Amino acid sequence: MKEFRVRFAPSPTGPIHIGNIRTALFNYLFSRSEGATFVLRIEDTDLERSAKEFEELIFKELKWLGIEWDEGPDKPGPYGPYRQSERLEIYHRFAQKLIEEKKAYRCYCTPEELEEDRKKAIERGEIPRYSGRCRYLTKEQEETFIREGRKPVIRFMMPDDEVIEFEDMIKGKITIKSDTLGGDMVIIKSDGMPTYNFAVVIDDALMKITHVIRGEDHIYNTPKQILIYKALGFEIPKFAHAPLILGPDRTKLSKRHGHTYIGQYRELGYLPEAMFNFLSLLSWYPEDNVELMSKEEIIRKFNFKRIHKSNPVFDIEKLNWMNQQYIQKSPVERIVDLAIPHLKKAGYIDEIDELRYNWLKDVISLYKDGLSYVAQIVDVAKTFFVEEVDYTGEMVEFLKSPNSIKVLEAFKGYLKDKSEITEDDVKEWMKKAQKELGVKGKEFFMPIRIAVTGEEHGPELVKVLALLGKNRVVKRLDRVLNLIE
Ligand code: GLU
Repeated sequence: MKEFRVRFAPSPTGPIHIGNIRTALFNYLFSRSEGATFVLRIEDTDLERSAKEFEELIFKELKWLGIEWDEGPDKPGPYGPYRQSERLEIYHRFAQKLIEEKKAYRCYCTPEELEEDRKKAIERGEIPRYSGRCRYLTKEQEETFIREGRKPVIRFMMPDDEVIEFEDMIKGKITIKSDTLGGDMVIIKSDGMPTYNFAVVIDDALMKITHVIRGEDHIYNTPKQILIYKALGFEIPKFAHAPLILGPDRTKLSKRHGHTYIGQYRELGYLPEAMFNFLSLLSWYPEDNVELMSKEEIIRKFNFKRIHKSNPVFDIEKLNWMNQQYIQKSPVERIVDLAIPHLKKAGYIDEIDELRYNWLKDVISLYKDGLSYVAQIVDVAKTFFVEEVDYTGEMVEFLKSPNSIKVLEAFKGYLKDKSEITEDDVKEWMKKAQKELGVKGKEFFMPIRIAVTGEEHGPELVKVLALLGKNRVVKRLDRVLNLIE
């Protein structure tokens, strides 16, 4: 049987977008579930917009997610190089072949001339397309243009009335007439760089790609590409165009909806396995409807036939839920390590020794299971990292009530001759104090919680008190009592 080969071919023109990552993931899952080779190819022919730093982000984020490739710029294979900017000579060779076979030609039209044509077509109520003016230039005409200093592009001769048909693995049969494709398309630009539609075909063909899996924004490029495959006598691969990811308002996912660069999720403390799981479910669903799956389970269950035709919605609530499940399953040390940079950035901690690390671990343990992403720790655990806490007007009113004052004074009295707060000891005192003061339950606990933490809700109070430590608790109590008396 023929070896299956797939590829992910991002352009390094910005921080890699979630939609692209999902395309990479589909290719990866296809490759791992079908035993195909997975190629990573960098499409960096747009010189103005491509940058090395964005290429590095592609490698970095794919690695972070656990998407490994078999051949790529850093993994030599039989069909390299795997960076388009290193393959220019190859594109020129094939463009030349098309010129020789009279399937392509040099076009010397200036941008001004083309603009003029475009305007006229619009005036006539026609869809603008290249007029074909340079299709049959004589040698002399070409030489004159060259002497004038015009820099040519190379155009592919678009057949007039061909019907192009292909069976998309997701969308089904697609039929398009060649006269709707905008006329003779540029395959080599005047700066010598190939256009996307040309380079992609040469590369997919030479890299022996059997299945082209990409976003549906490319579906109308596919017929153009098929014409080039045919013109060069290349075998046409299978195509699969995955439905684009939408935001909650059902428009294409963009910055308006939130973060679209995967690294932003990494930085906020979304875990790679949660992200992998979540993204895999955008468009595909396992037969057994079990949503939480390890990478291995996803690979085992993945089935291309179960990809939906409809557009998936990027549901941040669901991602948060899923990430929370994975945070809960993670050892606390992992979450501590991820939390440290956020706490440092907030100015809450600096260098930490072992003692401090253990304390931090205990603090984070209190909140860990409730985190949707690790960066939330800065807000939820704030009370542990600030000297003084703030109280709302309502809280102050509540603390002023005779019951509250009674409880706070009693608590202060209890702490007076304690060297530290220990959970068991304070628990015992609380039991006794409720009886002695005749203040019970919420009425008893709430003043303490608010006075000491500045919050109405939080983790188990005795744990919070023990971790805050006697000094800080006493200080806060003193401050509150001063404030309200
Ligand atoms: N460089 C193209 C992109 O990033 C690749 C599209 C394709 O997979 O053919 O959109």
